[in-house]
Formats: sequence, C-alpha cells, structure tokens
Amino acid sequence: MQGIEQLRAAMRGAALLPGDAGYDAGREIFNGMIDRRPAVIAQCSGVADVMRSLEFAVTRSLPLSVRCGGHSLPGYGVCDGGVMIDLEKMNHVYVDPVTRTARAQGGANWGQFDHETQAFGLATTGGLVRSTGIGGLTLAGGHGFLMRRYGLACDNLVSADVLTASGRMVKASATENSELFWALRGGGGNFGIVTSFHYQLHQVGPVLGGVLLIPFAEAHAQLKFYDSFSVSAPDELGVVAALATLPDGTKAVVHLACYCGPLDQGEEVLRPIRTRCAPIADQIQPMPYTAVQSIVEHFNPRGMRNYWKMVYVNELTDDAIATLTEHYAKVPAPLTHIVVYSLGGRVAAVPDSDTAVSYRRSRHAVIGIGMWEDPADDAKVTAWVREFAAKMQPFASAGFYPNYEANADAGALVSAFGEEKYQRLVAVKRQYDPNNVFRLNQNIVP
Ligand SMILES: Cc1cc2nc3c(=O)[nH]c(=O)nc-3n(C[C@H](O)[C@H](O)[C@H](O)COP(=O)(O)OP(=O)(O)OC[C@H]3O[C@@H](n4cnc5c(N)ncnc54)[C@H](O)[C@@H]3O)c2cc1C
Repeated sequence: MQGIEQLRAAMRGAALLPGDAGYDAGREIFNGMIDRRPAVIAQCSGVADVMRSLEFAVTRSLPLSVRCGGHSLPGYGVCDGGVMIDLEKMNHVYVDPVTRTARAQGGANWGQFDHETQAFGLATTGGLVRSTGIGGLTLAGGHGFLMRRYGLACDNLVSADVLTASGRMVKASATENSELFWALRGGGGNFGIVTSFHYQLHQVGPVLGGVLLIPFAEAHAQLKFYDSFSVSAPDELGVVAALATLPDGTKAVVHLACYCGPLDQGEEVLRPIRTRCAPIADQIQPMPYTAVQSIVEHFNPRGMRNYWKMVYVNELTDDAIATLTEHYAKVPAPLTHIVVYSLGGRVAAVPDSDTAVSYRRSRHAVIGIGMWEDPADDAKVTAWVREFAAKMQPFASAGFYPNYEANADAGALVSAFGEEKYQRLVAVKRQYDPNNVFRLNQNIVP
C-alpha cells in the first residue's frame, strides 16, 4: 500500500496490512457477524499515532473507523478497505485519589478502568461487561449499575481531549468548547477521536450484589412486582430483570443487582424481591464492585452473532408483560435474552438540556438481545428480535438509546434524540466535522 512505510516509520504502534501476522485477530470485534477487512489496521500506542493515522486516512480520502472496546453492535469499530484506528492498546488509567478523578486513555475498557479505580475504593458508572470500551459507551450516554446513584457514565465526564477531523487537538469541558462537550455526552463518536477521558469518581464498595434466579412460571408476577420495586427502590440500587435460558435449557427470570450503599441497608432494600417467591437460586451477597462487574460476561460470550433492538417503556403493564413473556417463550436460541434495565434516580434528575442524551426520564430500557452461534440461524433470530421490537411498540414511551441498536438510519436516529437535540448535534457536527470524516457511527449527517 502506498505510503505505508512512512506511516509505519511515523508510528510507535504497528500498522498491519492484510496477510500480516495479527491482522485477522486485529479486525475481530465482539459481534461475530461482522467480518470487515480494513486496508490497514493502525494499532495506536499514543496520541501521536492517532494523529498520524488520522492524517494518513484523510489525505488519501480513505474511510476510517475508530475502535475502542469493539462492542458496537453494528461493528462501527472496523471498516472495509479503509483505516481502522485501533485505540485498544491506549488503555492506561491514572487515578487521583485526592480529587477523586481518573484520566483514562481513549481505548480503555471498563474492566481496566474499574481495576485501577477500585484499588482506591473508587468507581464511576460504567458498563456491565468488562470488555466494553469506555469510549463508545460514554459517548452515547452509558448505562450501568451505579447510574441511579451517580448518573450516566457521560454525566461523570469532567473533560475530554479530542482530536478533530482537521487534525487539531482540543479540550472539551464545561468551560472550554462547551458546545462540543455537550455533544460528546450522548452524540457518540461523531465529533472527533477522544484520546483521553477525565471522569469524576465516587467511593464505591463493597456492594451487595449478584444473581437471583426465579422460575419462569413466576415471570408475569415477578415482572409486575419488579416494575414498581425497581422504580421506588433507593438510588443506591442498580437492578435489571432478564428473561433468559439457563444452561440446563430451562427458562427463568434472572435478576442482577448491585446495591452500592451500606450493606445492612441493602439487605433490607433487596429483601422483598428475594422473598416474593421461592427462587431457583439466590446468590446475592456482599462482594467487591469488580466482582459484580464480572458476572454479565458469562451470559455474553465474545464472538457470538449479535443483533439487538431496544424500546423505552414507562410501565410494565399486564399487556406489556404478557407480550414479553409470550414472545420469550418462543425464543429461537438459548443465549438470546430480553433485558429490562431500570433507570430513574440521578439519570432522571440531570436536566434534559445538560447533555445530548435524550429520554432520561424513561423508567425502563427493554432490550431484545439476539445472540446465537450458527450463521444458519441468522434469519430466524434477527426476525425474532425485530418482532420483539414491533410487538413492544404499543408500550414504548420514547425513541431509543443508540448504543443498543443493531442498525439505525439517519431518519430513525432523529428519534433517538428528538428533533431539537438532533438539529443542535448537526450544528456541532458542521463545526467540528463538516466533511463527515467520522461517519462509521450512529451518524449525525452534517
Ligand atoms: C456485551 C455488551 C454489553 C454491553 N453493556 C452495556 C451496558 O452495560 N451499558 C451500556 O450503556 N451499553 C452497553 N453495551 C452497548 C455499548 O455501550 C455499545 O456497544 C458501545 O458502542 C460500545 O463501546 P466500545 O467502545 O466497546 O465500542 P467500539 O465498537 O469500539 O466503538 C463504538 C463507537 O464509538 C466510537 N468510539 C469509541 N471510542 C471512541 C473514542 N475514544 N473516540 C471517538 N469515538 C470513539 C467508535 O468509533 C464507534 O462508532 C453493551 C454492548 C455489548 C456488546
């Protein structure tokens, strides 16, 4: 490839071409359905490498993708025939226990982040699976167990160092480039490459957390109970309800909980949901925050084929629950599940206009998680997920959270933000990326 030797000489990290050792492993991402072949994979070791690879792509008018944790469901981290700017090796996290803040490089994941912050007994809201990148998750909002107490991941962002499409490094914060800072908190990777995220941390752990398994025969009553329980619980409780299939093939309601306040109070708070009916298993117990953060990955193995859709729902009415349970009864693949992720607390308390994130006051995010192994099942499982989303529409309260969406065209994306916020995002996009260099994302078209 023309210019590749100059790029290699200019980088500390590797620039891999098809056929090079590590190329195939380098283009793999979480979703096993995605099989794209970049012209070059730039494995960046630092900001200088990111600058050089962006310049290489832009001067040659090559498509480019930016990869952090590689968890994007549509596979936005990897491109065909262009430059894959891979930040995965930029994963240092520096904690300042005095100011209770952390600076994390733009390629870190939540496992790395929690590992460093928990050494000081600190944490901030992050995703439920360790290998999910801080980049994609924070830039679109960021749900996690701590959100009802401390807000979304993006609500804890103090500032970000951003490499813009023109090759300029800028800082975005409440006082510098504040409109960019507003857009970065919800608008995704549209505005530049964030090389460093600066987060506010909080004292967290040990927590009362773990898994509670309820028989599927109880699903209707359990979800009905969960609807009001999850919303009226103190903000210290992060909780989800899933309809899932256990390893022995039986279906169940699976709750995951994380209470981040005093443990004895947590016992009282969680007692009603643990005692409503006889559980299949109750593994809720005191544990380090890092332990609760390493449970979900057992249900989400890497490399599976993935197709997800979500709806926001304000109330799990009898009809909504019947729709969920009847649809789940016909699930076509054992790893495929439905998750009800409950919001409220600090997520809803942050004023809507503060960030680009929309629909903060939604009570539940209900996600159809299609996950399966055999490509022969693609049509069957994707149809089941689409049917889930269609059947839930009558109960939907608002648009959607872009990070759980398998695909969304520009028209649909407007509904993820609402017309007013979308137009404000377009204005920021025109200022920082008028030629849409960063378009492999839930794209705001300039
Ligand atoms: C198993 C699994 C569990 C999940 N759990 C949660 C959860 O608990 N909470 C939640 O809110 N979401 C969750 N998600 C959704 C997740 O937030 C999105 O998939 C998100 O895009 C993943 O971010 P990433 O950095 O890993 O992805 P990538 O594929 O690396 O990137 C996703 C997008 O963000 C952009 N991007 C990433 N880093 C940067 C950066 N530094 N600068 C500029 N742009 C960047 C990329 O260009 C791309 O467009 C989960 C997804 C999976 C697959």
